[in-house]
Amino acid sequence: MPKGKRRHKFEEESAESVWPDDGLCPLCQRALVPGPTVNYHHLVPKAYGGKRRYAIHTVCHSKIHSLFMEHELAAVYNTFEGLREQSDIAKFIHWLSSKPPTFTSRHQRSHKKDNKESLL
Ligand SMILES: [Zn+2]
Ligand SMILES: [Zn+2]
Repeated sequence: MPKGKRRHKFEEESAESVWPDDGLCPLCQRALVPGPTVNYHHLVPKAYGGKRRYAIHTVCHSKIHSLFMEHELAAVYNTFEGLREQSDIAKFIHWLSSKPPTFTSRHQRSHKKDNKESLL
């Protein structure tokens, strides 16, 4: 019996991470500040063979995944240009442009007051 290879951990570690030369988020073009407000996005989802991941804001990342399914990302929105042209993303970028570079959505819900603010 062959030794079972658990590949998922290795795939995670071998991911190629791209930090933009200009230090700007490739989605919203605001500055990326290293730390908890920066995340990595696979333009081509891992499930579709994507290995390269790009530094973007956590808010931008959440927005992308709230709008698109993985198969849409793989087939249509696999470039930042394509994402930015999408109308919902364009509106989001416009709205975000006035926010500080470290802005994060805290998932506040108006009907739930007792959410602990420290939870991200
Ligand atoms: Zn951004
Ligand atoms: Zn992603």
